[in-house]
Amino acid sequence: MTAPFDPAAARAEILARIAAAARAAGRDPASVSLTAVSKQQPWEAVAPVLAAGQRVFGENRVQEAAQRWAGRREGLELRLIGPLQTNKVRDALGLFDVIETLDRERLAHALAEEIQRAGHAPRLLVQVNTGEEPQKAGVAPREADAFVARCRTEFGLPVEGLMCIPPEAEPPGPHFALLAKIAARNGLAALSMGMSADFETAITFGATSVRVGSALFGARAPHP
Ligand SMILES: *Cc1c(COP(=O)(O)O)cnc(C)c1O
Repeated sequence: MTAPFDPAAARAEILARIAAAARAAGRDPASVSLTAVSKQQPWEAVAPVLAAGQRVFGENRVQEAAQRWAGRREGLELRLIGPLQTNKVRDALGLFDVIETLDRERLAHALAEEIQRAGHAPRLLVQVNTGEEPQKAGVAPREADAFVARCRTEFGLPVEGLMCIPPEAEPPGPHFALLAKIAARNGLAALSMGMSADFETAITFGATSVRVGSALFGARAPHP
């Protein structure tokens, strides 16, 4: 018999691995934060992680996130890590502190309008499709500089960093290196990269936040 999965113990171990990876890279462990990816997880899996002190959570769907977090949002940082449709921008602004998936001009325009209306802005990351995969969201690496510049000057958006999801079948290191390079030349400090399977590698390449789901909560239920 195997012991039941213990999310609080998993969190402690992941935090220790994050700190060790940071130190090994000559970085301050406090410079890397853990985003707990709670998408598709039952509340019984999320509650112990919250009770253990986790305050930053990632979600990939606006509606699902609203259902999970409405009423328990106080003191937490919620980050949207999935694609954002323009007709969900208003809901997203009402819920998320950080939107990591700014990836097209139409969305930049919609965000700028809603930020104006709401009178407050979320922190924003531009998603870069480092592997140029047709099925994946994100701006192409060669278009990233121009897109970041337009977001800042034309739309007045407070872009603070970049996010990527490397292709599953490739070693992630070169993708993390590319994202770090694009961020550096655009003066962007935040790098959201690394998931359950590769967050230590991402930290070596400069990740400032890692997005960990299954290693923290156990395997996800499929979307209905
Ligand atoms: C689901 C998801 C994660 C977490 O993936 P795990 O492999 O379970 O850690 C991270 N980032 C994004 C964008 C995701 O959609």
